[in-house]
Amino acid sequence: MTLAESAQRGGVVGAGGAGFPAHVKAHSSVEYVLGNGAECEPLLHKDLELMIREPEAVAAGLSLLSKSTGATKRIIGVKKKYEEHLRGLAHAAAKIGAELQWLGDFYPTGDEYVLVYESTGRLIPPQGIPLNVGVVVNNVETLRNLFYASEGIPVITKYVTVAGAVKRPSTFRVPIGISFADLVQAAGGASVAEFAVFVSGIMMGKLMTDLSQPVTKTCAGLVVLPLDHHLVRRKLLPLESMHRIGKSACDQCTYCTEFCPRYLLGYDVQPHKVMRSLSFTVSGEDVWSQFAQLCCACGLCTLYACPEELYPKEACDKSKSGLKAKGMAWQGNRDVELHPMYDGRHVPLKQLMTKMGVHEYDVPAHFAEHPFQPKQVRIPLHQHAGVASLPTVAIGATVRAGDCIGEIPNGKLGARIHASIDGVVTELNGSVVIEQR
Ligand code: SF4
Ligand code: SF4
Repeated sequence: MTLAESAQRGGVVGAGGAGFPAHVKAHSSVEYVLGNGAECEPLLHKDLELMIREPEAVAAGLSLLSKSTGATKRIIGVKKKYEEHLRGLAHAAAKIGAELQWLGDFYPTGDEYVLVYESTGRLIPPQGIPLNVGVVVNNVETLRNLFYASEGIPVITKYVTVAGAVKRPSTFRVPIGISFADLVQAAGGASVAEFAVFVSGIMMGKLMTDLSQPVTKTCAGLVVLPLDHHLVRRKLLPLESMHRIGKSACDQCTYCTEFCPRYLLGYDVQPHKVMRSLSFTVSGEDVWSQFAQLCCACGLCTLYACPEELYPKEACDKSKSGLKAKGMAWQGNRDVELHPMYDGRHVPLKQLMTKMGVHEYDVPAHFAEHPFQPKQVRIPLHQHAGVASLPTVAIGATVRAGDCIGEIPNGKLGARIHASIDGVVTELNGSVVIEQR
């Protein structure tokens, strides 16, 4: 069986956020395979703990992927500050002829455009993907999962960190579909009475208060923060209010653009100009919105750069969706030339955490063995890029962990779904609910 076939059979998708089906990438032909272990979301350490715990599996996945794609160069991008902790990975990488690319501790080192530049010196063309410059990028957990899929073991667990206002910040490997409530409980419970959780990170994750939601194949973890924390209050503001405030208060200081990592890499992203679109209608709005098209939604402008605490990232989101709805293609500058201040204007992670008021939660979240035995898991049929899977089980069916419960519709982009615990299917409504009996 080829790697692409085993990845498809095992339901492997990008574990770093986007959930792109891994079997598609395994089909490509490239010069570089690049493991993404940069993990730059503040307080989340699940990739670090995975690389410490399972270095051989990460390296084996990288090796399989390089053989499948014909890549001659193998690199894993990791933070230099973890050099001591990653001796096992360095050893495993050396055995397969891969090297570690030591990265600085700035945000967002894990962005594919930044990682590809830092590791290969190549700049991805505007609106392009790493493949355009001969590179395939996979998160280190995806590499681990590729290795296990090649051994016939499907993706039924997920590495997650539970950080922030909890009694025992930790990293766990949990059954997919387990609830956020069970996760918070495993970390000793919240250390405050009222809280909300940033799912998969403060910078690029979603804020939720519903703890019945499940862990998916793309969830990196939970950051628990008090309900009255400044970041929670900012995030809870309705979008209309964010845009209304921006319209009246933006003084066009350009800090949001000057700190934008995509702008510094040489792309034509200029959030301060996008802010102007909030004040214009009809044609003017579209003109300024064009400067948002290459934004990667990293959140740095909103959460770090803007001295007025406005919402340029959200203005970019609005602009991008507005242009998409109108079917307007990007027509900006295609030349990419590194900004002379690229190296000097990185935002150190510690500085970012201090600015956001979360430095008090900056503690290790070591891996903890925890006997997760959820009474119920809720496994969404759509937790990846592409279309939802079709259920292959009916209510009342008995399943075992590892059984396929969702299949990719014929000829579509998608990923298989598997049961993560033994039990009985009790609900089918966009998710497969399995209860232990
Ligand atoms: S940093 Fe804030 S105030 Fe300055 S231009 Fe950007 S959005 Fe406007
Ligand atoms: S969110 Fe802001 S800082 Fe990040 S890429 Fe977009 S415009 Fe730039």
